[in-house]
Amino acid sequence: MSINVTKAYLPPLEEYIGYLEGIWERGWLTNNGPLVQQLEAELSTALSGANVQFMSNGTIALQVAIKALALTGEIITTPFSYVATTTAILWEGCEPVFVDVEEQTFCIDATKIEAAITPRTSAILATHVYGYPCDVRAIEAIARRHKLKVIYDGAHAFGATVHGRSLLAYGDITTCSFHATKLFHTSEGGAIITTDEKLAQKVSLYKSFGHIGDEYYSLGVNGKNSEFHAAMGLCNLPRVPEFIDARRQIAELYRAELAPLPLRYPVMPAATEYNYAYFPVIFDTEARMHHVKQALAAHGINTRRYFFPSLNKLPYHTGADCPVSEDIAVRVLCLPFYQQLEHDQVRRIGALIRENYA
Ligand SMILES: *Cc1c(COP(=O)(O)O)cnc(C)c1O
Repeated sequence: MSINVTKAYLPPLEEYIGYLEGIWERGWLTNNGPLVQQLEAELSTALSGANVQFMSNGTIALQVAIKALALTGEIITTPFSYVATTTAILWEGCEPVFVDVEEQTFCIDATKIEAAITPRTSAILATHVYGYPCDVRAIEAIARRHKLKVIYDGAHAFGATVHGRSLLAYGDITTCSFHATKLFHTSEGGAIITTDEKLAQKVSLYKSFGHIGDEYYSLGVNGKNSEFHAAMGLCNLPRVPEFIDARRQIAELYRAELAPLPLRYPVMPAATEYNYAYFPVIFDTEARMHHVKQALAAHGINTRRYFFPSLNKLPYHTGADCPVSEDIAVRVLCLPFYQQLEHDQVRRIGALIRENYA
C-alpha cells in the first residue's frame, strides 16, 4: 500500500450530510450563506475577534490582500515558500524582491530586510514556513520605521501561536489556505484575516465583484466560497486540537526513529506553540536526499521537495542570489505527515530511511 506525503482528513460522512440537509432545505448554495457566516464567526472567535473572510483559496486571498492594500512597485518577500507567494505578487503587477531566509527557521531573515528597501518598496510579504513563525516583532518595527505594509502568508500557520497570540493575527493582513492538503481544510478554500475594519470592508467588496446589490463601488473579482466548503470547515474546525496532538506524537516518533542519522531540522524560536504542519528534514547533500527519496518511492512512499526550487530561481522570474534558501531548497525533503498516519507506518518509513541512508 502506498503512503502519500499528505492525506486529507474526512469527517464522519453523517456529520457532513447533516450540513447538506440544511443546504437542501434552504436552497442557498453560495453568496455569503449561513454556513459561510457561521464558519467566519467561529474562525473569528478562534482568532481573538479578528475579521475573517472565507475565500475561494489561499492564492486568491493573497492577490486580494495585495489589491486591498493598494500595493505597487516592489514587495520584499521570501524565496522559501510555495510558488503562490511569488506568483501572487507578479500577478498583481508588482515586483518581488527576495531577501534570504534564516538558517534556523527558514523564514525571511529580518536582519537583511532593511538593506533591500528602496523608494519603490511598498510592503513585506513573508511566509511562516512549515508553521515556524517569522520574526514578527522585528518585521513590525521595520515596517513602522519605513511605512511599509505587512502581509503574512499564513497558509501553514493555522493553530500555531507566538508570544501568546495566534500566528494568524500579525501584520496588516494574514492570508490562509484551507486546501485539502493543509492542517485545517475546507477541501478548497482560504481566508483573509485582518483587525482593520476598513480594510475588511474593502476585502468584502473585492471578493464579490465590487458591488453590493445594484450599487457598484469598485473593481472586484470572484473570491467567495460556497456553503459546501464551509460545511467541511465546520466539521473539521473543532477537531484541530486533536489533529495537532496526533501530529505532535508522529513528529516525536519520527525524530526518535531518525535520531541516529545526521539530519537537520528547522529550529523553533522561543515563545512558540507549534502546530506540526509539516515534517521537513534536511540532508547533508542533495545526492543523499535524492537517494533516500528514490528508495522510499520504490516502496510506494511519496515524499515532496517542499520547497524546491528556491523562488528566486523560477524560470519566469529570476531574483538576486539567496544562498541560504538555495542551499536548503536542494537538500530538504518533506516526509509523509498527517494525523491519520499510523505509528507503525512511521516506524517503517524510519527504518527505510536508516537502511537507505547512503
Ligand atoms: C498552499 C499554499 C498556498 C496556496 O493556497 P491555495 O489554497 O492552494 O491556493 C499559498 N502559500 C503557501 C505557503 C501554501 O503552502
